[in-house]
Amino acid sequence: MTIATTNPATGEVERTFDPLPEPEIDRRVGRAADAFRSYRRTGMDERARWMNAAADILDAERDRAAALLTREMGKTITAARAEAAKCAAACRYYAEHAAGFLADRPADAEAVGAARAYVRYQPLGPVLAVMPWNFPLWQVIRFAAPGLMAGNAGLLKHASNVPQTALFLEELFRRAGFPEGVFQTLLIGSGQVERVLRDPRVRAVTLTGGEPAGRSVASVAADELKPSVLELGGSDPFVVTASADVPRAAEAAATSRCLNNGQSCISAKRFIVVEDVADEFEQAFVERMRALTVGDPMDESTDVGPLVSEQGRSDVEDLVADAVKQGATVLCGGARPPGKGWYYPPTVVAGVTPDMRMYHEEVFGPVASLFRVRDLDEAIDLANAIGFGLGSNAWTDDPRERERLVDDMEAGQVFINGTTTSYPQLPFGGVKRSGYGRELSREGARAFCNVKTVWIG
Ligand code: NDP
Repeated sequence: MTIATTNPATGEVERTFDPLPEPEIDRRVGRAADAFRSYRRTGMDERARWMNAAADILDAERDRAAALLTREMGKTITAARAEAAKCAAACRYYAEHAAGFLADRPADAEAVGAARAYVRYQPLGPVLAVMPWNFPLWQVIRFAAPGLMAGNAGLLKHASNVPQTALFLEELFRRAGFPEGVFQTLLIGSGQVERVLRDPRVRAVTLTGGEPAGRSVASVAADELKPSVLELGGSDPFVVTASADVPRAAEAAATSRCLNNGQSCISAKRFIVVEDVADEFEQAFVERMRALTVGDPMDESTDVGPLVSEQGRSDVEDLVADAVKQGATVLCGGARPPGKGWYYPPTVVAGVTPDMRMYHEEVFGPVASLFRVRDLDEAIDLANAIGFGLGSNAWTDDPRERERLVDDMEAGQVFINGTTTSYPQLPFGGVKRSGYGRELSREGARAFCNVKTVWIG
């Protein structure tokens, strides 16, 4: 894949970049290792000052950053501004809380025959971050804010279609005051990732993206015995029970499915509705999906912009075509509009069955599968029937139903009467084929730490 900015609203290539030559990659990895040696000795107060400065820059330059995101991957300008603001808030959150998350943890010294015993959280070293284009600022900050506060150095291999955002991030941390080499961008293709990960100076890897990329990076990490965190795809269920507030659920359903033009790993994608309220939900949901405005992502009144690429759009079209060929029904949307740009309308597909690809695969576009089930048992079985286990959503006003859903959903998170969102305060990650490890919260701060046991006699 060439490293280039191609505007999804026009299909035009706006800038291309040469990948870094091998000696330059080596130089940068060396710089990360050198920087780490002194950076790990900096104090939490100093790191927090730099992290807060990064937040200030993100706030002050929100419009500039947002315009970059929209041009490179097509999210609406409103969503892009919100992403930049969320990143600033996360930087401030870790500036404030990392010291507490990473403070020495006392242990029962007497029980282990010591005068003193405790746990110390120490950084591992340079961490390679392989990141996707869909939330090009947030996915990186989600690793970098806790990772750098813990004292690690970051090497970012961003998706090849967001090079300007990748360079913005490098510049952001440098301008915020972090020492040279603590956070660097490597403009490289995916073919160079293995080489970087096998470099002994690189100590761990985090990847957000699709399954093939995850499998490939995890295999190399395993071969090198290096820790890895994987945040892969999802096809989150959205269960609506008979006790639910159906109008609210339908509104949230449309918003969640079309978040980020339908390209979010934690969008609800499979809508599983109990028979009693299925007609009411279907009507309200389809109405709301139809009402969304598709158009120029730079226009503030747009709800849904273009998909990221021609390939991204044809992948979505193939999944819908496969379902329709085998008997599914399109309730709204389902056909690309004429004209330039990689647009695809909000779409609802009913009658999806296990022999259709859409039943099992993640649809990375604004396409919802709508299922009707008899009762909660059937809803939970269907929710858990596929390989993914990232987020999950359920709508119910019944406390017993709520407890069942909390207990039985096979997912890294369950949101009741709300839609899955990532917050710096809550751990984020998946189970099953959605990956392993956790980002954010205390877990994220400790993800790339040596949990060192200290015993003093
Ligand atoms: P990819 O998984 O291909 O890309 C994510 C990152 O991994 C990019 O930096 C990419 O680099 C890199 N990469 C890709 N293949 C390899 C490899 N074999 N070894 C090392 N690094 C690799 O995501 P896509 O953008 O192609 O999207 C494909 C699917 O992934 C989507 O349909 C969706 O299902 C899922 N996805 C999930 C996301 C999430 O948030 N969980 C985000 C984005 C996608 P390069 O760009 O140079 O190829």
